[in-house]
Amino acid sequence: MGFELFPPRSERRHAQFRETVERLAPAASEGFSVTMGAGGTTRAGTHDSAVEVARLTGRPVMAHLTALGLSRRAALETAEGLWQAGIRDILALRGDQPHAMEGPLPPGFAHASDLVAALAERHPFRIAVAAYPEKHPEAGTLDQDIDHLKLKLDAGAHMAYCQFVLDPAAYGRFLEACARHGIDAPIVPGLMPLEGWARVRSFARANGTTVPDWLERLFRESEDKPEMQPYLAAAATVEQARRLIAYGAPSIHVYTMNRWPLPLALSRLLGRC
Ligand SMILES: Cc1cc2nc3c(=O)[nH]c(=O)nc-3n(C[C@H](O)[C@H](O)[C@H](O)COP(=O)(O)OP(=O)(O)OC[C@H]3O[C@@H](n4cnc5c(N)ncnc54)[C@H](O)[C@@H]3O)c2cc1C
Repeated sequence: MGFELFPPRSERRHAQFRETVERLAPAASEGFSVTMGAGGTTRAGTHDSAVEVARLTGRPVMAHLTALGLSRRAALETAEGLWQAGIRDILALRGDQPHAMEGPLPPGFAHASDLVAALAERHPFRIAVAAYPEKHPEAGTLDQDIDHLKLKLDAGAHMAYCQFVLDPAAYGRFLEACARHGIDAPIVPGLMPLEGWARVRSFARANGTTVPDWLERLFRESEDKPEMQPYLAAAATVEQARRLIAYGAPSIHVYTMNRWPLPLALSRLLGRC
């Protein structure tokens, strides 16, 4: 199991970040990953947080690198800094244009596959890429999107981490479609702990992730009973994880939102720590 974190933006948040890292370390068999803001924002924070997590835990740490909005040179300098600091795993992302960044972007890597190729040329990083079981919102069709995923893997990435699904069957169908496209690299599903249903649903809408009726009903019908929500969230999250494993997940990438209780409970319930 691997845990995704984001760089904390204040001292108080930093304490919470550190506690999360320390609590989850025993369960992090696949290590941690640290996100980077769109347009390469939080570059310094991502670097510092990745190095800190590696130092605190001794586990592998994958730094996300978002290229859009950065020149090729700035993106590669960021990667160089990570390499020099001992970070060997990178999630190579095109990323999105941040809302605050207006006007033409500096010429840089147009697609994640271009970034993967440049990183692979520079150092023997272990490079991973993003995958979208329900297709990336900009892609025409799922098949076209899988062709682009294959380009990223052929350019030098060794595995893919998925956008989260709320219907585990979508992950199962995606694995089959990838196999039909000749992809044999590990494809790790993303799991969003189902705490704070309104927030989870709004992330899902933004990503084009299908929200199954049973989950919507489960949380909506108990809106007036907030005491029940943590139990429903835990039980439904474990159910999702078990179904992803049954579809053949090689590991699970947990979007922790820098919180540890439910991810750690999940690991215990699955017998992973
Ligand atoms: C596991 C995971 C972690 C993430 N972490 C972060 C993060 O830390 N920070 C952040 O800002 N965002 C993050 N994202 C979101 C990601 O940045 C966005 O989804 C972004 O819009 C696409 O990035 P990408 O690397 O998948 O792009 P690409 O792989 O380049 O794909 C983007 C779009 O272009 C198409 N495409 C790709 N190659 C070609 C080509 N050669 N020709 C034509 N079309 C092509 C694809 O089909 C797709 O529609 C993450 C997503 C996932 C799944």
